[in-house]
Amino acid sequence: MRGAILHTSPGKLEITDVVVDDPGPREVLVRTAAAGLCHGDLHTIDGTIPGRLPALLGHEAAGVVEAVGDQVHDVKPGDHVISCLSVFCGHCEHCLSGYPNRCQSTEMRRAPDQPSRLRFEDGTPINQWYQLSSFAELMLVHEHALVKIVDDIPLDRAALIGCGVMTGVGSVIHTAAVRAGETVAVIGCGGIGLNCIQGARLVGAGRIIAVDRVASKLELAKQFGATDTVDASEHDAVAAVIEMTSGGVHHAFEAIGLKATAEQAFGMLRSGGTATVVGLLPIGVKVEVPGLSLIAERKLQGSLMGSNRFRVDMPRLVDLYLQGRLDLDNLISARISLDQVNEGFAAMQGGEVARSVIVFD
Ligand SMILES: [Zn+2]
Ligand SMILES: [Zn+2]
Repeated sequence: MRGAILHTSPGKLEITDVVVDDPGPREVLVRTAAAGLCHGDLHTIDGTIPGRLPALLGHEAAGVVEAVGDQVHDVKPGDHVISCLSVFCGHCEHCLSGYPNRCQSTEMRRAPDQPSRLRFEDGTPINQWYQLSSFAELMLVHEHALVKIVDDIPLDRAALIGCGVMTGVGSVIHTAAVRAGETVAVIGCGGIGLNCIQGARLVGAGRIIAVDRVASKLELAKQFGATDTVDASEHDAVAAVIEMTSGGVHHAFEAIGLKATAEQAFGMLRSGGTATVVGLLPIGVKVEVPGLSLIAERKLQGSLMGSNRFRVDMPRLVDLYLQGRLDLDNLISARISLDQVNEGFAAMQGGEVARSVIVFD
């Protein structure tokens, strides 16, 4: 099969023939139907967040089960599935207390003395990106990396739920647990930010203020539920949000991954408000907030993959899409082939794209 390999970081992806092993007892072979391009991949391609190389990248995907190991009971050949990088063991303290997204068990990986799931034709092992590697025609994954979904949803739309949608919507409905009527600001209206915005719409947030420096992204934000917008290239975002809400928002979401915007998110909170940093901050970056502001019970927190319990959440998100209450159609700005993956990431670096999705034949 063909897959997109990163050999050096920073670097470019190279489409190469890859050998995929047969499924082990608890593994599933999935024929990839669609795979989204996510900033999580870009961070390793551009060298901001290193990873083990060579690696087959990609982690936001949907497909159809091709074959299963003899101990797999959750899915069968022909099932439609979404993959998720929150691969869970199901029996550790995190999993059993309702936070499988925090699972750190390594038992879902193959042991070092077992053959690698992916390798080059000469036998050299290839690192599997987040235990998924979805920029390839086939994925060989642990069964706990997958959730079965209904067949009604197109798989290019379903793929987006696998990371960007779950991360953005989940940060609002789970991590921050926004309540109906509360005010929300979202800084950054890319793929993740748009999903924070529509997550806020889903839970019935009051005012939903979108903040970005690109006018076209602010327009898109309105389609996804923003009630107000702030162009941060023209205005001081913190001052503008505080003025619009007479003292600050209940919830601010940072969806870029920058020190400055993480600090702005905290700065635009009213007393008792919570800032949730969804963006991935580069290694070594420190976030500083005025200590005195904490007195008024302001909170600063992170969100890991939208605090998902993806086996429960993703089928619900599929239902919401099928009911017309979750917009996935307008998240896709381009459908590309595997061979166009580098152009897709270049467009993402240019900042104009909501989501490019690789569609496999
Ligand atoms: Zn991602
Ligand atoms: Zn676990």
